[in-house]
Amino acid sequence: MALIVQKFGGTSVGSVERIQAVAQRVYQTVKAGNSLVVVVSAMGKTTDGLVKLANAISTNPSRREMDMLLSTGEQVTIALLSMALQEIGQPAISMTGAQVGIVTEAEHTRARILHIETQRMKRHLNQGKVVVVAGFQGITSIEELEITTLGRGGSDTSAVALAAALQANFCEIYTDVPGILTTDPRIVPEAQLMTEITSDEMLELASLGAKVLHPRAVEIARNYGVPLVVRSSWTDDPGTWVTTPKPQGRSLVNLEIARAVDDVEFDTDQARVALLRVPDKPGVAARLFGEIARQKVDIDLIIQSIHEGNTNDIAFTVTTPILKRAEAVAAAIAPALRNQSNPKTEEAEVMIEQNIAKVSISGAGMIGRPGVAAQMFATLAEAGVNIQMISTSEVKVSCVVSATECDRAVAALRNTFEIEAGKEDTGSVSTPILSTQHSATPVATTGETPATHWLLSTPHSPPPVRGVALDMNQARLAIRQVPDRPGMAAKLFGLLAQHNISVDMIIQSQRCRIVDGIPRRDIAFTVARMDGEKTQKLLAQAATELGWGEIVLDSAIAKVSIVGAGMVGQPGIAAKMFEALAHNQINIQMIATSEIKISCVVAQEQGTQALQVIHAAFGLAGSEKFVVPA
Ligand code: ADP
Ligand code: ASP
Ligand code: MG
Repeated sequence: MALIVQKFGGTSVGSVERIQAVAQRVYQTVKAGNSLVVVVSAMGKTTDGLVKLANAISTNPSRREMDMLLSTGEQVTIALLSMALQEIGQPAISMTGAQVGIVTEAEHTRARILHIETQRMKRHLNQGKVVVVAGFQGITSIEELEITTLGRGGSDTSAVALAAALQANFCEIYTDVPGILTTDPRIVPEAQLMTEITSDEMLELASLGAKVLHPRAVEIARNYGVPLVVRSSWTDDPGTWVTTPKPQGRSLVNLEIARAVDDVEFDTDQARVALLRVPDKPGVAARLFGEIARQKVDIDLIIQSIHEGNTNDIAFTVTTPILKRAEAVAAAIAPALRNQSNPKTEEAEVMIEQNIAKVSISGAGMIGRPGVAAQMFATLAEAGVNIQMISTSEVKVSCVVSATECDRAVAALRNTFEIEAGKEDTGSVSTPILSTQHSATPVATTGETPATHWLLSTPHSPPPVRGVALDMNQARLAIRQVPDRPGMAAKLFGLLAQHNISVDMIIQSQRCRIVDGIPRRDIAFTVARMDGEKTQKLLAQAATELGWGEIVLDSAIAKVSIVGAGMVGQPGIAAKMFEALAHNQINIQMIATSEIKISCVVAQEQGTQALQVIHAAFGLAGSEKFVVPA
């Protein structure tokens, strides 16, 4: 007999008939001999409706009252589903987050889960009842009972956290699509279903805009090794498994806030090539990286900074042995880039830096926990280490620093994040590619006892691009003329972290300008659009104090990203993405990569098209078209 947590999203419980269909599925699973905790969302678009009501009364409602309001949606569904179960003869009991004892931080509207009481649920399970729990909500403490919510889409997180706390055999997320697809089928109906994806890949996709899973749900599944599957509410098809290597035993105390960083890594075998003043128009990145790919040069990080005037800087890192080849390509292409645009402009300039190292912290939920990157930057600042390039992703934050400072940087980071030195001391370290390891995944089919069936997935090389995601809810901020010295990134991101503002795609311009006798660079980054204006205000205050230049906000952007563990060590992936955009006259405003993802910022109105052409370029489209039920 297995203990299973099943979660049903808004559309799946959107009407009385659908709630009855869910009850039937739950009933069948129990009849097959399983114990069940069921987590549900609010019916259909109820939560959106509640947000609208609040906004009709206040432009800036209290976050405590928002939680009080939004948590009601789920309470309706738990009662109705329990009734539907009782009606077909299945004993069931509904429970709110408070009744279960889902204890969270006192951060209204975006609380992280600290602890889950399991006794009460277990007592009901032992009495043969299905426990129906309200998703997306918790309380600050058993004494205070202040209602909190986890953030929009957070019922997935409730479900996986419950599975971790109860040590359930697995967690099933039932939704309105057949599983995790190569991209959002609402935008690309030819998107294909995948049978499995690694938790690192899914973490990236989720945080880059694929809302099929809440990123924090994947984070918990990864950290606690919860087998997780996404399936359709309407069929018995197997869906998509999120695979995770067996994690070390983790304490269930401070479930969602404990230890974000698993490791500190470094690579001293790095060199940087920068092209300054390349024209800001479609096709430039495609040309450069197309040529680089043809020369079979494998690049690591790429950044393209925001344009100043009508030119950009593009920088990338390579391993030292192939630096000469990379440099030759860049040098050959630089004059052509100038001639193409405006012969009167200054020539694009190639800049090489050999004495660099990349230091990284890896774990889960880096973007979702802005304090982690801020802590990394602060640690480097305290150690007097200047950051030359930054790359962020949900599973890794990397900084390029001077090679002579690498040891100091690594020691300081290990100290801060309490990582023991040891296995990584040999120098260059690469990310383990999770999906090439054996992973044991239970095969769940309603009506069987899934825990008795284990599928051992065979090792195979993961595809370079597993999925493509679009985020239309981002804004870009640029700070002009930030003094180029240790501690600036720490100040900036420390400030944002204090206000819980998550930052993605951080880019420092490669060009240094001397203003008032101080070398300065521009820093640009993206944040959630709803944080855009607040961030601009915060930074404007800091700018006066710290001697920064103007703060520029652009909300009319879209971010399109490709994700795949198989892109590591595979030349030409970035080039293909940039070529697809160039071919369709889509200008790239910003580029940022990390090991398993590449993101480009484009104009908002070209976002959808960008997603479609990139998805097609990587041959991800299938012959079948998905129609997502309303
Ligand atoms: P639920 O209410 O069940 O939580 P959501 O609307 O939050 O459902 O998530 C499911 C939706 O996620 C799908 O309808 C689809 O439009 C969207 N989606 C975005 N990216 C993907 C993807 N890569 N695979 C599947 N669905 C995706
Ligand atoms: N009902 C909440 C929302 O719409 C939580 C969820 O559905 O996951 O965001
Ligand atoms: Mg959802």
